[in-house]
Amino acid sequence: MSSSIRFNATHLIGKEMDYVAQACLERLSGDGRFTRQCHDWLERKTGTARALLTHSCTAALEMAALLLDIAPGDEIIMPSYTFVSTANAFVLRGGIPVFVDVREDTINLDERLIEAAITSRTRAIAPVHYAGVACEMDTIMAIADRHGLAVVEDAAQGVGASYRGRALGSIGTLGAYSFHETKNIIAGEGGALLVNSPDMVLRAEVIREKGTDRAQFFRGEVDKYTWREIGSSYLPSELIAAFLWAQFEEEEAINRARLAVWDNYHQAFAGLEASGRLRRPIVPDECRHNGHMYYVLLPEAAQRQVVIGALAAAGIQAAFHYVPLHSSPAGEKFGRSHGDMTVTDDIWQRIVRLPLSPGLRSADQVRIVEILASCT
Ligand SMILES: *Cc1c(COP(=O)(O)O)cnc(C)c1O
Repeated sequence: MSSSIRFNATHLIGKEMDYVAQACLERLSGDGRFTRQCHDWLERKTGTARALLTHSCTAALEMAALLLDIAPGDEIIMPSYTFVSTANAFVLRGGIPVFVDVREDTINLDERLIEAAITSRTRAIAPVHYAGVACEMDTIMAIADRHGLAVVEDAAQGVGASYRGRALGSIGTLGAYSFHETKNIIAGEGGALLVNSPDMVLRAEVIREKGTDRAQFFRGEVDKYTWREIGSSYLPSELIAAFLWAQFEEEEAINRARLAVWDNYHQAFAGLEASGRLRRPIVPDECRHNGHMYYVLLPEAAQRQVVIGALAAAGIQAAFHYVPLHSSPAGEKFGRSHGDMTVTDDIWQRIVRLPLSPGLRSADQVRIVEILASCT
């Protein structure tokens, strides 16, 4: 049998080890030269007021919940079709995730359903840009403005993607990125918080540094540092930042290569879609995605195991995705749904994600498409 094709083959630039070696000689703990370079790069790239590296996107979301002073009983509107961290970050503060259904086309939070889910306890909306394709942000921001709500963008999958020319993560009050190994730009584990409201920047630095004003102390803005408020340790070591810097330097090339693979799949599946045997991803005109994920929706849930099994038999890893949070044990315990979850309950059972990495060969893509054609 031919060699196996991984769902997500780790893509290294080659300079990661050099930079990590430099960090070893210069400084190991966080907020050194490489972290500063990463912050500057993110700020230039996204236009955010302040970018702060964290040890994960999960950590960035937890910082967002702290920054917004989420208290027990506060409600946060979000999709159910998302990763657990979107909800967990707020539940840790006693917040209540209020799950709303997703759109049929993008599988993103359905902006038409948000307003009806708002109550006197609603504090924030947490849109998730699934597959690096933006939510309908103009509408979501307008709703948030009308009701005085914060917007926390879970842009874990959205590094390098944009909505009407604006970087994902830089549009809401706060945005969170992931540099987990499974994302486009990687550091093993890693993330960043984009603080888009200038008035939140100092508090964000304090929360990230165990609740102290250590960052200001190192800039010479205060003469000693002390405990200011609740916080934790959210900064990654310089080893992570050094690794990440090598990836940042090649971000455009990495995303370009992923987009080429994505486009290749998209063309190859046009015929199967035309004959109703699957549905391809839909990217609205105002969204520029980053080739994070290629998925297909099968007509029937029962076909999914057949397809994944046929690919596995050929040594090809494909994957389904989230079990909706509203139907998970913790989602039932800590959250509630607003309205029915018709689209979520349907789509999660029919989705298959295909291997996508910058080095995936087109010959391998041809094989993948052939196997799908043979069993759909
Ligand atoms: C990957 C992911 C996260 C978590 O990222 P980590 O860096 O692993 O904490 C959160 N939300 C979404 C939508 C993700 O895809």
